[in-house]
Amino acid sequence: MNISLAVGMAMPAIKWYAYVRTGSTVILSDALESVVHQLGVAFAWLALRWSHRPPDENHTYGHDKITYFSAGFEGGLIGLAALLILYTAIERLITGPQVEHLGFGTALTAAAGAINAVLGWYLVRVGKAEHSLVVEANGRHILTDAWTSAGAVIGLLAAMLTGWLVLDPLFALAFGAHILLEGYRLVRRAVLGLMDTADPTLVEQARQSLEGFRQRYPMLTFHRLRLRESGQRMYVDFHVQFPDGTPIEEAHRIASEAEQCVARALGRPSDVTSHLESAHHPEGHDDTTLMVSASERAR
Ligand SMILES: [Zn+2]
Ligand SMILES: [Zn+2]
Ligand SMILES: [Zn+2]
Repeated sequence: MNISLAVGMAMPAIKWYAYVRTGSTVILSDALESVVHQLGVAFAWLALRWSHRPPDENHTYGHDKITYFSAGFEGGLIGLAALLILYTAIERLITGPQVEHLGFGTALTAAAGAINAVLGWYLVRVGKAEHSLVVEANGRHILTDAWTSAGAVIGLLAAMLTGWLVLDPLFALAFGAHILLEGYRLVRRAVLGLMDTADPTLVEQARQSLEGFRQRYPMLTFHRLRLRESGQRMYVDFHVQFPDGTPIEEAHRIASEAEQCVARALGRPSDVTSHLESAHHPEGHDDTTLMVSASERAR
């Protein structure tokens, strides 16, 4: 990780220097994107480490949700960078682009992109060989930066070869829009995760697994099925009703089987909890959400 850290620190500085020398909005876009990317990668890495901490007294569900904060933070930063790029590009379009030393700036951007391409390719290879998802993801981030630089070089070359300097802010506009979209996606992911938005296909998978379970135990009914996603882990709970007079030992054995059935159907790490009830139980709590086979439900 040491080379990638050193390059990661140097790259925004090199690109920023290229921007100051040229005044090119395209180079500004490339520089801002790599600054924001580096911050995002650092924060994501910290968040990932934090998320692996086991549950403790005041985080009894563990720390997985911090990865949503990191996605939201990175998305917010990217969004800010995009707005700054769009603002600058529009301002330059109105006042007329003032750029100089474009050849020098293009060469520096191309060199930075080439270094990133080699480093990114190397990290992806190492990450795959060592089965380290973090290293591989870092490599892919750096490769994305290299592609951004390649796009910037194309824009700069087009502006230089045609002499239409207005191409510089125009390319920056396209960059800004692209980066804004990237930020929006990250923020959206964070909001969905923090709001416990359930994936309808997963809800359906869990529901169908309980329906399937009823083929073997037709005397059961299920209701109030709930799903929550927290990073990699799913939290599922549901109520199950047994015929009156079922011994608790038998009921618990069957309920545990149903829990395992749901966990298998979801196919990912899950905590499944069931609440056992007799067919005729007093109305102690709200049972109205997400019925399973509501029509056949015993009351
Ligand atoms: Zn209930
Ligand atoms: Zn149990
Ligand atoms: Zn109950």
